[in-house]
Amino acid sequence: MTRIEFKPFSDMKPEDYAAVGFKSGLEIHQQLLTERKLFCRCPAGQYSDHYHAEILRHMRPTLSELGEYDGTALMEFKTKKEIIYRINRDTVCTYEMDDTPPFMMDEQALDIALGVAMLYQCVMVDELHIARKQYLDGSIPTGFQRTTIVGVDGKIPYKHRYIRIVQLGLEEDACREVSDVGHQRVYLTDRLGMPLIETVTAPDMRTPDEVAEVAQLLRRAVRSTGHVRTGIGAAREDVNVSVTGGTRIEIKGVPRIPRIPLLTYNEAMRQWNLLNLRDELHLRGITPQTFQSRAENVTRLLKKTRYTPIRNAISAGMVVNAVSLQGFRGLLRWTTQTGTFFSREISDRVRVIACLTTLPNIIHSDNPSETISSSEWQAVKKVLNATDEDTVVVVWGQDSDAATGANEIAIRAKEAAIGVPSETRQALRDGTNGFERILPGPDRMYPDTDLPPKRVTSDRLARISLTLPSPVWERERWYAELEIPEDVRQPLAASPFASLFEKAVIEWKLDPTLAAVALIQWRKDLRRKGLNVSVLTPEVMAAVLHTCGRHAAAHDAIRLAMRQTAEQGAYADPEPPVPASEAEIQRVIGASASTLEAVGIRQPDKAAEVQMGIVMKELRGRAPGAHVAQMVGYRKEAVQ
Ligand SMILES: [Zn+2]
Repeated sequence: MTRIEFKPFSDMKPEDYAAVGFKSGLEIHQQLLTERKLFCRCPAGQYSDHYHAEILRHMRPTLSELGEYDGTALMEFKTKKEIIYRINRDTVCTYEMDDTPPFMMDEQALDIALGVAMLYQCVMVDELHIARKQYLDGSIPTGFQRTTIVGVDGKIPYKHRYIRIVQLGLEEDACREVSDVGHQRVYLTDRLGMPLIETVTAPDMRTPDEVAEVAQLLRRAVRSTGHVRTGIGAAREDVNVSVTGGTRIEIKGVPRIPRIPLLTYNEAMRQWNLLNLRDELHLRGITPQTFQSRAENVTRLLKKTRYTPIRNAISAGMVVNAVSLQGFRGLLRWTTQTGTFFSREISDRVRVIACLTTLPNIIHSDNPSETISSSEWQAVKKVLNATDEDTVVVVWGQDSDAATGANEIAIRAKEAAIGVPSETRQALRDGTNGFERILPGPDRMYPDTDLPPKRVTSDRLARISLTLPSPVWERERWYAELEIPEDVRQPLAASPFASLFEKAVIEWKLDPTLAAVALIQWRKDLRRKGLNVSVLTPEVMAAVLHTCGRHAAAHDAIRLAMRQTAEQGAYADPEPPVPASEAEIQRVIGASASTLEAVGIRQPDKAAEVQMGIVMKELRGRAPGAHVAQMVGYRKEAVQ
């Protein structure tokens, strides 16, 4: 492999991503706007930090039907976490806590999921089979999520090609995490069991920007149905990234789409740099077979250290372990992501698996300054028989945690000789990502025996298809033909006003740009002014457009009606203002001329502007601004 240096984020071009074989796909989890949860009758979308009881559970792995332990399950078992569930009796029943079997599936949720699958042109399944998907991090008390596939093999148009939709699933949401410190993780259960759809795309995106654009497109598509939840946490993206020779890595729970490009760039860079690191190890003769490491308890040697984290640990009765990595000299300073080194891969594993969550949780001899003294490093190296060609990593904690930590240090270092380990990673605020957990095995799904298969009749699909909006990509293409301003096309296509726009333009013959700008831009303007725009519902806007749209000065009349409605908090069907007659316009302009003279403005440009203001104050909503401007001789473009 040629050693391409990764350029800074802002310098990367599509060709650069092509050179490293960048590939990315999305898994989008979107909550549905239903009244109830998916498999019980508890209310959906009622969040509160208040709780009436707590339940404590310990996770432990069980053998799969094939007689194997799942990698994730083993990892979670190693962490020895105590899981605490906070329960609010208004939002949780015995079903979520696995004490009663599931109810039948929520029909409203199923209708929405089927509709979205049809929007994606999926092949629809004619019989739903409920499966259990293993979830071993504790975020679901039962250890599994009920899930069903409603459609497969769909596609959406993007640029001049299609992005393939692998499948669309309907499933239950997990708990909300409150905290995760040391050996204790706390969850709120109100979100547990709420219906969501999971859209899985093929790895068809070729640059980080494409990933974000497709995520936005899919978001507009589901929002256009009007049946999905919006707001923080209502849609969560998992992003899969790989480069040539790398591994498909899943970055979990990206909260905002604009963060996707930098995150995927950093993950591509990390994989590329880990592959280079593997090559470097092979050059040094280190392979998974020849890898050597040794661990020793060095607590006694560091008893008098002045390095605070270790001194405090020892005085609290903790243990310090040191691990030598043979031939690794300098490699813990190997850059992986922007401003991030290979040592972070090791520190992350120690943090997550040994639960040593207080940072720093390791120190290493590739970066010896400001930690233990050089004589202490020498003593530690001596015990390990380490040479200058080796790297030594030190970890501290309670006896068993420090032992788990030492073990994980060696495991992660050895994996570097293989390449990019399979794992899920979490999005971090700085645009890099950190280790989350070992990737679950492929046998995570098994049939649910509590629920029978469910037929999806063609009548049902036909009924739903009648209620479906036209796809956003078709709407956006039509808007482009209508030449409405570019910045309102995408928001309009996904908004609840899209069908009203269609009606206003086709049936009521309203000017497309006026209708689009009123529905999207003016509404936004009023909100920015602090007015309550929630009263400007599609029904109210329909009345406004229909009534005022027929007015000679439709532009002003609509704007005025919108503002008054927002100010008064309710819509009063306006007596449409009587259009001013030509004679009246002449009279007002004549009167304004004398006012102007009295004010005494000399510059012709200014005078016209002021006169325009005087006239429109009297005639607003009753005479077209453009017409008045022409008569006054005022040429400023934006006459509003
Ligand atoms: Zn319930």
